[in-house]
Amino acid sequence: MSDAPLAARVALTGGSDFWHTHAVAEIDLPAVMVTDGPHGVRKQLGDTDHVGLNASAPATCFPPAVGLASTWNPALLSEVGAALGEECRALGVGVLLGPGVNIKRSPLCGRNFEYFAEDPYLTGELAVGLVKGIQSQGIGTSLKHFAANNQETDRMRRDSQVDARTLREIYLRAFGKVVISAQPWTVMCSYNKLNGVHASENHFLLTEVLRDEWGFEGFVVSDWGAVQDRVRSLKAGLDLEMPAHPEHEAGVTQALASGELHEATVNLAASRVERVLRRALASLADAPTEFDVDAHHALARRAAEQCIVLLDNDGVLPLAPETRVGVVGEFARTPRYQGAGSSRVNPTRLDNALDAISAIVGYEVPFAPGFVTAAGQELDEGAREDAIAVAQNADVVLAFLGLGENHESEGYDRETLELPAEQLALLDDLLAVNQNVVVVLSNGSSVLVSSFAGRVRAIVEGWLLGQAGGPAIADVLFGAVNPSGKVAETIPLRLEDVPSHLHFPGDVNGVRYGEGLFVGYRGYDANRTEVAYPFGHGLSYTTFEYADLVVSASDAGLTVTLRVTNTGERAGRDVVQAYVSVPGSAVVRVPRELKGFTDVTLDPGASAEVTIEIAREELAFYSVRDSAWLVEGGTYLVEVGRSSRDLRVAGSAEVAGNEPRRPLTMSSTVAEAMEVPAFAPVADSMLQGMFAGDPDLLRMLADMPLAALVSFSGQSTPQFQAVLDSVNAQG
Ligand code: BGC
Repeated sequence: MSDAPLAARVALTGGSDFWHTHAVAEIDLPAVMVTDGPHGVRKQLGDTDHVGLNASAPATCFPPAVGLASTWNPALLSEVGAALGEECRALGVGVLLGPGVNIKRSPLCGRNFEYFAEDPYLTGELAVGLVKGIQSQGIGTSLKHFAANNQETDRMRRDSQVDARTLREIYLRAFGKVVISAQPWTVMCSYNKLNGVHASENHFLLTEVLRDEWGFEGFVVSDWGAVQDRVRSLKAGLDLEMPAHPEHEAGVTQALASGELHEATVNLAASRVERVLRRALASLADAPTEFDVDAHHALARRAAEQCIVLLDNDGVLPLAPETRVGVVGEFARTPRYQGAGSSRVNPTRLDNALDAISAIVGYEVPFAPGFVTAAGQELDEGAREDAIAVAQNADVVLAFLGLGENHESEGYDRETLELPAEQLALLDDLLAVNQNVVVVLSNGSSVLVSSFAGRVRAIVEGWLLGQAGGPAIADVLFGAVNPSGKVAETIPLRLEDVPSHLHFPGDVNGVRYGEGLFVGYRGYDANRTEVAYPFGHGLSYTTFEYADLVVSASDAGLTVTLRVTNTGERAGRDVVQAYVSVPGSAVVRVPRELKGFTDVTLDPGASAEVTIEIAREELAFYSVRDSAWLVEGGTYLVEVGRSSRDLRVAGSAEVAGNEPRRPLTMSSTVAEAMEVPAFAPVADSMLQGMFAGDPDLLRMLADMPLAALVSFSGQSTPQFQAVLDSVNAQG
C-alpha cells in the first residue's frame, strides 16, 4: 500500500462507479465488484441503479431473511451461504452486501423481509451461519445496516434515539456476535443518525465499539449515499464510501493539503480496503464461470420447506392426494417470493405452487386468480364469480392471500398490518359457500389474521420463499414435508398492541426508542398482552413431549439437557427453545429472553436427549453505570418450550456473578449500605434509635443517600467518612 501514490490511496477510500472499487495500477490492484445481496446475487447488467429496477444476471433467489429466520437453522443458512458464495465467484463478485441484522422493532418496517427477527440472539446465530457460509468460499460479506436502522421512514436523516442499555442489549448485540464469531470482511454503516450523529460519522460506533471493543478486522463501507462528508467519515472510522463521489474524493485531497486530515488516516482506510480486496481477488482468480443451477435450485427448495410456518390447523392438513382441492388467488400462480428494492434478484427459474399442486394430485386443479393483479388488490365481478365457482366445487379451498410488492418495500414503511380489504372480502365470499378454507399467506412482514383465524381451517404462513417456494408449499399442504418453521416475530392481534407502537416511526425530531428493552415478545410478555401467535410458534403434523430437564452451571455458562420424544405418527423436526429469566434481579429485566435453541428430527415414537449450551456472555446485562457487561449473581430460571408461550419444562441453576465491588460513598443509599455486612454493626451503633426494630422507618430511609443521614446521626461529615473508609477497608 505504501507503494501506491497518495492519489491512489485517496481513491481507494471511495468507489470508482456504482458497484466497483478503484483499480490501482501501481500496486497491481484491479477493481473489485461488490453487490447486493443478501439472499441472491444481484449483478447488474448495463445501467446501474440501487433499487433493483434494472436487469441483473440470473442467480438463485434463495428465501429472503424473513423466510430463512423461520427455519431457526444456522447450519442450513451456512449451506445457503456457501451456495451464495459460489455464485458470487462464478459471477465475479468479491463482496456480497448482506446480511441485514437490524431488529424488527415494528412489524410496519418496510424492510422487515430483509431482516431476521425481533430477537437479537436468534438474529445473531442465524447471521453467523450465513456469513460463515458465504465467506467459506473466499467471498466477503457486508454486515448491515450498522446501526439502529429499524425503519424506512425518513431513513437517510432520522435520528434513532436509543438509551445505552437498550442499544447494547437489543440493537448492537447481533452485530457484536457476528463480528466476534464470524469476522465479516466488511460492515456497512446505515443511513440514519444514532443519538444525534450520522452512523457514517459515528466514532463511537465505527471505531470505539466495532474495532476497539469487538476487534473488527475488515473495512467499513457506507450504505449507498450515506456519507455527507468523506473527511468526517474517515476520521470516525469509515474506510470506503460507495458509490463513487468525485466531489467527496476531491474534499479528501483538499483536507490532506490543508492539514485538516492526516495522511495516516487515509493510509489506514486504504490499507484495510486493499487487504480485503486482495483476499477476494485471490478467490476470484481461479473461479469457475458457472455454478450448478439445478443443485442450487434444489437447495433453495429444501430451505423453503423449513421456512414455512403452520400457524393454525384443526386437522384438515395435511391433505390426502384424493382431496378435491380448488385454488384461489393469483399468488398461487404468480408467486410473491422476494422483497422489493436493492435486494431484488433475477431468479434462474421460478416455480409456482399451482403447478406443484397439480403435479401432486395428477390433474390440473381448478383455479381462479380471484384478483386482477398480482398485488391482490383489484377485484372485479367476473373474477369474484370465478373464485366462488371454484370454491363451490371443491372439498377444500386453498386461498392464496398476501401482500403485493407495492405493500412493503425498501424505502417506505407500511401503515397498516391488515391484508388488503379486497382480499378479506373475497375470503368472506369463499367462506359463504365453503367452510373448508385453508389460507396460504405470502408476505415479507407479519399481517393480522384475527379477522379470519378460527373461521378458516388452517393458516399456512409462507412468508417469502424464494424461487423454489411453490413446490415447498405444495409439499407442506399434502404432507410430503412436515412443517417445522417457527415465527421469528410475534404476530399481534392489533397494531396498537405492538410495544413500539407509540414511538414508531417518530418525526423530524427523531425516533425515540421509548419501549426500551421491551421489544417484541419482551414487551408483549411484560404487558401480558394477548397475541395471535407468540414468538417461536409453529405447528407440526406430529406432537412432541419434553421431559427430564437438567440445568447446570459452570464457568462457561449454563448447560441444559432434556429428553424430546415424538409422540405422534409422523416423522418431524422440532425446534427446542430455551428462555432465561432472573427472578428477583436488581436490574430491570424483561420476563424472559431466548438464550439458546437447537433442533431435533425424530421418527414417530423415537426420543433423543437434547443439549443446549448457553454461553456465560449470553447471561450478561449491560451495566450503564459501569459501562460494562456484567453477570448478576443468583438463581437463573431456564424455561424450555416450543414457543415463548408454550413452555414445557423448567429448571434453574445458581450462577456466580462478576459485579464489581462498589465501595460505599456518601452517595450510596442506606439500603445499599445495609447490604454490606461490615456496615450493619456501624449502623446499629451510629443510627440507633432511627432504625432499631422499626422496619417501616428503615423502608422510608432505604433510598436516602448516606450524605443526607449525616445530620440525622449527629456526626460530622469527616467523622462519617472515616466510618465509611473503615467499612470499605474491611471488604
Ligand atoms: C441499501 C443497502 C444496499 C445498497 C446497495 C442501499 O440503498 O440500503 O442495503 O446494499 O443500497 O444497493
